[in-house]
Order: sequence, then C-alpha cells, then structure tokens
Amino acid sequence: MANESSYYAGLDIGGTTVKAVLVNHLSEQVGPLTEVRSMVKNGYETTFGQLDQALDQLAAGAGIEKSAIAGIGLDVPAPSSDGVIWGQANLGSDWVGTDIRGKLSERTGVPVYMTNDGNAAALGEYALRRKHFGSLLLVAPGTGLGGGLVLPGGRGYEGANGMALEVGHISVPFREDDGELPTCSCGLKGCAEAWVSLVALRRRLRLELAKPEWTTHPLNEGDTPVEEKAFKLRDFAEKGDQLAVQIFKQQGYILGYAIADMVRTVDPGLVVIGGGLAETTFRDQYMEWIGEGFAERAWPVYRNSPLDPDKVTTQFEWASGGDAAAAIGMAYTARELFGEV
Ligand SMILES: [Zn+2]
Repeated sequence: MANESSYYAGLDIGGTTVKAVLVNHLSEQVGPLTEVRSMVKNGYETTFGQLDQALDQLAAGAGIEKSAIAGIGLDVPAPSSDGVIWGQANLGSDWVGTDIRGKLSERTGVPVYMTNDGNAAALGEYALRRKHFGSLLLVAPGTGLGGGLVLPGGRGYEGANGMALEVGHISVPFREDDGELPTCSCGLKGCAEAWVSLVALRRRLRLELAKPEWTTHPLNEGDTPVEEKAFKLRDFAEKGDQLAVQIFKQQGYILGYAIADMVRTVDPGLVVIGGGLAETTFRDQYMEWIGEGFAERAWPVYRNSPLDPDKVTTQFEWASGGDAAAAIGMAYTARELFGEV
C-alpha cells in the first residue's frame, strides 16, 4: 500500500496557464483543479515560481501540508526526452537543452516525471477509465493534431527519443481543390494535420468562401479576417449550417482515415478523440464521419472480430477529461511511479 499521508501533484504547463491537480495514495483527486499563469516566455525560472504557487494552492485546497506532496508529474507543450526539452515550440529559449525535470526535482525535493502534453492527456483519459486495462490511443484535433499512447497497465509510450505519436504527420492522400497535397505547419506536404486542425479549418474556409455558391453566406459578410471567422465554424455547424457541416464532415472523414493507419500500427482497442470537438452538440455526427473515413481505410477486422462478430475490435470514445485531462494524467502517473508499493 502506498503511504496514506502522501499526495501526488499533476502540473500541466500550457502556453498561457498551468493547470494543477492533486491525488491521494488511492489516485483519487483531492481538492479542486487549480490554475495559475504559466509565463513560459519569461524563462523556466519564472514558470517554476508559478509552479510553486500552484503547489501551494493545491495543498491549501486539499487542506494538507505542502510537504505531504511526495511526487510530481509535469507535462510541457514541447518535445522532450529524459526530462530535457529539445524543441522550443512556444517557450522561452532557455527551456531548450535544460534539465527541466532535474531542476524541478532539486527545487521541490521530490521526484518528477516529465512528458509532453499529448502523452499527458492520453494518460489522463486512461486514469479516468478505471475499468479499462488495455491500451488507449488519444487523437486530439486542436490548433494542430496531437496524440498519445498508453500501454496496458497505464504506462505512457513516448518512444526512444520522445518522438513517438506524432500522429498529425501521418501522410494522407487527400488533395486540395488545385490538385495539390496541402502543406503542413511542419513543412511537409499531405500530413493529416494539414486537414485536421484549426490551421486547416482556416484554409478550407478561405477557399470555400471564395466559391460562387457561398457568396451570400453570412461568413462572407463584413471584413473580419478568416482567422476569426474560423472560430465561428463550430457554432455554425451546431446550427446545421451547410458550409460548416461540409467542412467538418470532410475533416472528420480524413481524421478517421488517418486513424485507420494508426490503429493498424498499434492496435490499441480503444481510440479516444480529444480536443474541443468533444464539447460540441454535433459530436455524434462527427463521430459518424470519423467512422466512415475509418471504414474506408481499415480492414473489417479492425472494427469487429472475425471470430465473434459481436466483439468490437476498435472502440471509439470521446475524451471525458476536458482540458484537465493532462493534469489528471500527470498526477495519476506520479502516484503510479512514486507511490510506495
Ligand atoms: Zn506535418
């Protein structure tokens, strides 16, 4: 049994906020979700100061002494390996090449686990499904298309160099209206992320609004930049707007198509779709579009067992942790790794 007086903190560092969660020795959340500003552009020392505040607030919220926190799970919005970030993303420059995990462990006096935000969210979704013991693949459309994989038993898989599960950059054979493969934010052509991301929504919207059939569409009124118009697409789709539905239908289909190759690679049994779409009223329809794209590319055995047709071989579920999933995943993992057995 883990020490009953020990607690474990999950700290999810985002571009603007740190979300923090505390669990007890039974992996049960104690006290509320806490948020502080992340200030990542000001350098890691500044953010560490913010993490101190988050830990203070967690302890106060749970009515415990801060010294009872026996381990920390930390996730960062950048690629890392062995606690060292090697790609800058949106962080200040001094984060790169620094032993972030070691320095935070030294500062707090407790062991620290560190991974990226996609893996952390996958671990959170796993932690929230207490009856699920198999593996879990998370695919999360957002600004980009992120992902994470949890192996049976609850250990995250991040690859030898922290470079696994870059699911957004799986190649898909879909061409833009001009017959070309669209260019991805990574510089390559034909990535799934070039179709399934906020960036992709903006491109699709710009191209569609230029077509004669949408001249009188409400999104063509006024001179709002397309970046802002794209944020309204969800609302329009929820109201059944034809243009918005068409764009999301294409996105969902291509997402399902790309997931088929991910499933063919890791056969997770459970695919969880994360990101903000989980909160929309058209999510059931969106899941059907994912299913159509998946069926196009996945062999039938990845849908139902050939031995038992009632047995579903790949379950699809919406994420349930919302934007707290990563912090929950990190608290859960800290408990798993650093709790006394
Ligand atoms: Zn790419």
